[in-house]
Amino acid sequence: MGVQYKTRDEIELMRESAQLVSKTLGLIAKEVKPGVTALQLDKLAEEFIRDNKAIPGFLGLYDFPNTLCTSVNEQVVHGIPTNKPLLEGDIISVDCGVVKNGFYGDHAYTFAVGEVSEEVKKLLKVTKESLYLGIAEMVKGKRMGDLSFAIQNHAEKNGYGVVRELVGHGLGRKMHEAPNVPNYGKRGRGPIFKDGLVLAVEPMINMGTRRITQLNDGWTIITSDKKPSAHFEHDIAIVDGKPDILSTFSYVEEALAEVNALIV
Ligand code: MG
Ligand code: MG
Repeated sequence: MGVQYKTRDEIELMRESAQLVSKTLGLIAKEVKPGVTALQLDKLAEEFIRDNKAIPGFLGLYDFPNTLCTSVNEQVVHGIPTNKPLLEGDIISVDCGVVKNGFYGDHAYTFAVGEVSEEVKKLLKVTKESLYLGIAEMVKGKRMGDLSFAIQNHAEKNGYGVVRELVGHGLGRKMHEAPNVPNYGKRGRGPIFKDGLVLAVEPMINMGTRRITQLNDGWTIITSDKKPSAHFEHDIAIVDGKPDILSTFSYVEEALAEVNALIV
């Protein structure tokens, strides 16, 4: 199917879906600490989404078994929540989807578990920066390659590997719609951006090699050199020629600020 451009009304419904994911990630942010398991986070997320009259978007999608994808350290994406307690110094990428009013929200944040090394902090910072640099290119008349290049350039400038096999995507009544949103590419190439386009932009950036492999569970993607990987994702519409970020990290950031204030 071709690109499904959304009306203003549809974009407002998609904002609701995206914001519910944002709030879910905010809830998760308060709970990520050493000793907690990804399965506990998963249960919290599922309850919260259902309490908000929505459906977990990943549960059962392509037969995925849970509400969250939780990817720890060298796991890039699509990790399945387990009973293994998180350890101080780990990172965990939490990707969450919902369906509300028939539209998907899909966004992700990589959390530090307790205190992480300076080099891991930098990986998280640069990956998040690359997401926003990509989003800034979502301007009417620009092309996908401009977005892709912006992400790749920032990550590689910092010596990181950009995952190529997995990409962002169009988002709407389906979780994965056209077009693909690669995190690498050349300026001036690819589909032209127009009003009504809604994308899930999601750089997956590795500290070392860009190469990845899949675990035997049929889901979990890991880095080939077992170095850590980060993943941040937003849902964005083009409105009046400019990017309108439908999701937000503000709930996560508020929660993390509270947690840090308690520690200090
Ligand atoms: Mg996602
Ligand atoms: Mg996605």
